[in-house]
Parts: sequence; structure tokens; C-alpha cells
Amino acid sequence: MNGFAQRYVDSFMSGLIARNPGEAEFHQAVGEVTSSVVSYLEAYPNLIEEKILERITEPERVVMFRVPWMDDRGQVQINRGFRVQMNSAIGPYKGGIRFHPSVNLSIMKFLAFEQTFKNALTTLPMGGAKGGSDFNPRGKSDAEVMRFCQSFMTELQRHIGQDTDVPAGDIGVGGREIGYLFGQYKRLRDEFTGTLTGKGLAWGGSLLRPEATGYGACYFAEEMLATRGEGFKGKTVVISGSGNVAQHAAEKAMRLGAKVVTLSDSDGFIHDPDGLDEEKLQWVKQLKNMRRGRIREYADKFPTASYYPGQRPWGIKCNIAMPCATQNELDGDAAATLLANGCICVVEGANMPSTPEAIARFKEARILYSPGKASNAGGVATSGLEMTQNSVRQKWTADEVDAQLHRIMSDIHAACAKYGSEGDGYIDYVKGANLAGFIKVAGAMIDQGLV
Ligand code: NDP
Repeated sequence: MNGFAQRYVDSFMSGLIARNPGEAEFHQAVGEVTSSVVSYLEAYPNLIEEKILERITEPERVVMFRVPWMDDRGQVQINRGFRVQMNSAIGPYKGGIRFHPSVNLSIMKFLAFEQTFKNALTTLPMGGAKGGSDFNPRGKSDAEVMRFCQSFMTELQRHIGQDTDVPAGDIGVGGREIGYLFGQYKRLRDEFTGTLTGKGLAWGGSLLRPEATGYGACYFAEEMLATRGEGFKGKTVVISGSGNVAQHAAEKAMRLGAKVVTLSDSDGFIHDPDGLDEEKLQWVKQLKNMRRGRIREYADKFPTASYYPGQRPWGIKCNIAMPCATQNELDGDAAATLLANGCICVVEGANMPSTPEAIARFKEARILYSPGKASNAGGVATSGLEMTQNSVRQKWTADEVDAQLHRIMSDIHAACAKYGSEGDGYIDYVKGANLAGFIKVAGAMIDQGLV
């Protein structure tokens, strides 16, 4: 290699940062992908001439809109809504909606960018998008959440459709919010289609969609562990988050024979040295999904557990870590602590939870490490299966969906191994996932001309 591709990527990144100022998360996500594709660009310089990096990092469309709504006290509230339609080269836009006070354009663009590659990895025909709002559902009544969702969808419905863009849930958007969003979409458009996924089971939802991201992450982890003759059985697992992904990652890890000892939320984490069991997990689901309580209550309910306010769980000794809360929640110091404590596998359930410093440490230590775009793709893959069921107006059994989810996670693992294997047998899952996704999307873009 004479290094021209590296020089091109360096100059491209400087341009991207200058062109998208203040978008740190977006820069981080693009930087990770571009560093994985340098040698491919060196081998295929026509991609540089085609300006594929410039095109693939420019959203096809960004919609930003006002979301006015009235709270229970009769006060007017204004939030900001987003939909970033990043890439439709391989299918209709697809990606979740996030309601969290931290939501801004940078976070939406990073998530939509990641989604493009993740969706390509699933083997299903889905483009990449992401949406959301800086609305904070925490502490809001059901009626306030409904009024907000209705106002949000009143604008969003102009930009989505079953063959155009199919949103789903993400942080702060679960079954309740999808219900309110779908109801308003159906009312305004007068059509009952699969335009949102994560729907209730009685009105078009797929069995296993709620479980799919967490279960899929565990299936992916089993594939990774198998490359070293290991499995979940007998392992201690540390999980962050206590929402949709964390709950179902915990459930599947437990059922595969592991001991799950932590869960967290944005206020702190609980450590239960005895491990969760089915009864404790059911209690957590009630707490988080129905009562919308805080994870600290776990330590009041189960005295074997301790609560650590304001901390993350990475200091707890474990074999496997599953960050399942949010981006950049696991930094270089946390990675060093995990490694010092003997962690052999880090499987991301969340999107971009590890910082670049943490990823560098995992790679240097040659432990098993998978980026979210590979290991959490089971969620969107099952959304794709929900779209298929809606199109053919059929409902598959849980076993059928589970079998497909298993196959898809296994195929994603094989793609990572194909593009990320190094001479000594080590698999660089970051490179593998990025390269496999990039080759597919870039190829489709070139086939379709300059659009
Ligand atoms: P939920 O809203 O169900 O749960 C999010 C969890 O993460 C909560 O426990 C929440 O705590 C915690 N959390 C959120 N923000 C922060 C923060 N800034 N610091 C610490 N903890 C935080 O979301 P999901 O489980 O659906 O999503 C979790 C992650 O997985 C996200 O990165 C999401 O993008 C990703 N993902 C989700 C998919 C899905 O199918 N749902 C699919 C693929 C990826 P609190 O209650 O205090 O806010």
C-alpha cells in the first residue's frame, strides 16, 4: 500500500468535521467506519472517484420540526422533532425513534449512519434512518405522552410510509409510545399498514419483537464465544441499562446458563451477587415497563443486592460485559478495569456505548469485542420480519421468528468473520461489520447512478 487511501480518508475526515461542526457523535461514528475501509479503498480507488464517502455521510434528507403540545397543567410546551433519512440504497428507510432530553442533530445523524450499515448486515432490504425528539417521557403522565406523540406524528406522517420509511422504538419509545404514534398515523392517513414496527400483538406486531435486540445480542455472543470454545454457561455477566434491551439480554443470558449480576439506569446501578432469576427479572419488567420506577428500588426489594448511585457497573468483576444503555457509557478507564478483572467478551446491546479509547483497549487485549451495529441488529432484523408479516397479512409463531432471528445473527457473525479475520485467527468485529455493510451499501449506490 502506498498510503494514498489513508491520506484521502484523513482529508475526508477533516472536511467532514469542518462541514458538520459541533456534531461530535456523528464524527465519531463516521471515523470508526472510515478507518475500517481504508484498505478497501486502496484496492478499489474507483470508490474514491465516485465520492462514495462524501455521499454516504450526507443524509438523503433531514426533517426537523416543531412539536407543540399541552401538559396536564394546561401549559404550552414546545419540543423539537427529527427524522434523518440517511440512505435508501438497499430498501426503504428504517430506524428507531428516540425520546430523550439529550437528542440533537448530531445524535440523530450518528444513529442514522450506524443504522445504514447495521441494516445492510441483517441481509434484509432496509435503508437507514433515525428519528426522535428532545422530549423527556420521564415523569410525564400517559395523557401527556399521548398528546406529545400525537403532535409528533402529525408532522412525521408526511415523511413516512410502508414503502418509504418505517420507524420503530428506541430509548424512551416502547410499546406505549408506538401505540399512540400508530393510532395517530392511522387516523391521519386512513390506512392500516405496517408503517411502524414494535406494534402490539393484537394490531400487527410480531411475536418476539420486544425480546429481539437483547436475545439477538446473546445469540451473537454465543457465536463469538464459540470461536474460543466458550459459551454463556457458568459465566458472570455485567449488564448496563434496565430498559428493553437490557431486560431481554439479561433474560436470554440467564436462560443460557449465565449469572447476571448488574442492571442500571441513568441514576446508578444495582449489584446482586446472587444473580438475577426469572422472578427477580419479572419484578424488574413490572418496575420499568408498568410502574416506570427506578432501578434503585431493586435493592430495597431484594436485600442481597446493593445500589450504587451515580455509578456505572463496569467495576464489578465479570467474564462478559453487555453495555445496553446508551452511547459512550463505557470509556477507556472502564475498559481497563474490565480487562484487569478478567473480562473476556464485550457485546454491545446499545448503539456505540464504547468510546474509541475503550475499543482500542479491547482490541489491544485481543478479547472478543463486538460493536452494536453487529450484535444489536436482531432488533431491526425482527422489525424487518414484522414488515414481512404485515405485507403478507400473516402472523408467524414465536418459534418461527426465533429461528429466523437466530439465523440472521449467525449470518451477521459469519459476515464479520469473513471481513474481519486476521492472520492469527483474531476477528476484528468492528472492521468486519463496517466493511461488510459498506461494501453492500456502496455497491448498491454505484449501481443506481448519481442520485
Ligand atoms: P429504553 O428506553 O428501554 O432503556 C434505556 C435504558 O438505558 C434505561 O435503563 C435508561 O435509564 C438507560 N439510559 C438511557 N440514557 C442513559 C444515559 N444517558 N446514561 C445512563 N443510562 C441511560 O431503551 P432501549 O433499551 O430500547 O435502548 C437501549 C440502547 O439500545 C440504546 O443505545 C438504543 O439505541 C439501543 N438499541 C435499541 C434497540 C431496540 O430494539 N429497542 C435496537 C438496537 C439498539 P433511565 O430510565 O434512567 O433513562
